[in-house]
Amino acid sequence: MAEKLSAVKGMNDITPPASAHWEWLEDTLRRLMQRYGYRNLRTPIVEPTALFVRGLGEVTDIVEKEMYSFEDRLNGEQLTLRPENTAGVVRAVLEHNLLYDGGKRLYYMGPMFRHERPQRGRYRQFHQFGAEALGFAGPDVDAELIVLACDLWRELGLDGIELEINSLGQPPERQAHRLALIAHFESHAALLDEDAKRRLHSNPLRILDTKNPAMQAVVNAAPHLMDFLGPDSLAHFNRLRELLDAHGVSYRINPRLVRCMAYYNLSVFEFVTTQLGSQGTVCAGGRYDDLFEQVGGKAAPAVGWALGVERILELLKEQGKLPEPPAPDAYAVVPEAASIARVMPVLRALRLQGIKVQMHAVSAEGMGSMKSQFKKADASGARFALIFGADELAQNQVAVKPLRGPRPDDAAGAAPAQVLQSLDAVTGWAQSLKTV
Ligand code: ATP
Ligand code: MG
Repeated sequence: MAEKLSAVKGMNDITPPASAHWEWLEDTLRRLMQRYGYRNLRTPIVEPTALFVRGLGEVTDIVEKEMYSFEDRLNGEQLTLRPENTAGVVRAVLEHNLLYDGGKRLYYMGPMFRHERPQRGRYRQFHQFGAEALGFAGPDVDAELIVLACDLWRELGLDGIELEINSLGQPPERQAHRLALIAHFESHAALLDEDAKRRLHSNPLRILDTKNPAMQAVVNAAPHLMDFLGPDSLAHFNRLRELLDAHGVSYRINPRLVRCMAYYNLSVFEFVTTQLGSQGTVCAGGRYDDLFEQVGGKAAPAVGWALGVERILELLKEQGKLPEPPAPDAYAVVPEAASIARVMPVLRALRLQGIKVQMHAVSAEGMGSMKSQFKKADASGARFALIFGADELAQNQVAVKPLRGPRPDDAAGAAPAQVLQSLDAVTGWAQSLKTV
């Protein structure tokens, strides 16, 4: 026998019934985006490596050590499996000149790839859903995007998700803060770990994001970026806060919230939960007014967020909010294989009426006993069994037997009432299968 192959480590198959939860979440997201006027953008999974190096910044975790980059053997191009999709969205918006007639609201969903250590809530192929408002200077769209995410938690029935916000100001403000930060850390050099020492001159802001408990004191004492913001940046941030207040959205200002991509400025935010262990950030984003120029385009302001689909599903599971997987309306019990040719067109007629019908199919052992067919019918979750017995078919009829669900006309415990329906009048009784 050939050697058994399995999926790449950290990359998951999504099998039924769990895949139904994914579809349900995707449907919920699509409906919500339509209400807010966001439209779908689909970009390739593979992009030129330079897009991420320039867009995300060379000294970010993603670019330094998490990207799946390779050379196309056939033409020598340097390519990368997208680790995130904001840079790809900006590339596509520029390439198709989508901002020619004003700002655009866009969303995407799909797989992203980062070579990280796989663990709960952290995978090498994971999925993001993202929303981006491009060509708007905010802070009204910043607030719109944050409120949209809050509506999503509400729609999904999730609670315990908290909002943290911060402002990263503008490049000159960050530069002044950066010098103060370097001076602070240099004066406490003995307290820095290897990671921090390495980042001290390349990306000191990221030191604030450290998870090392031994560094918390020195990090807590570091100068706050907020204290370096000029009046325009402060006004932008305060207006965002006013708008969030006007919606009754509560938040915490986290001066250490810095985000790992280099493209952010002004508003940054994260939605976090304590219910997922250390992978508690379920959605994160911010403003990125300089990214268009960084990837070689005409400047345009923009803001967006991305949520981790796996983490949202995990949280839904944790909180018992995942819906039951969808069941068929009816299951067709077919006692004799010889009846199949009569039965299948009837099932098709039902499906054309919008009824979900699952047929008991012939297996190696034939159709199986009535008992085993009913067992399958029950396990399918269907509310009705359609019994195509030879006697019924001879009368041009089918027996419809309720398997579950409310039957107000019956006393509790009474045997489910079975009714005969005429095969000539399928459309007539089809609806009743849907609406009981
Ligand atoms: P983290 O700090 O958890 O590594 P990040 O800052 O790298 O997150 P972003 O790039 O902002 O994450 O991605 C947005 C969201 O995508 C995260 O908040 C998270 O929900 C999800 N996410 C990021 N990386 C992974 C991963 N490797 N596996 C699963 N979900 C992920
Ligand atoms: Mg990360």
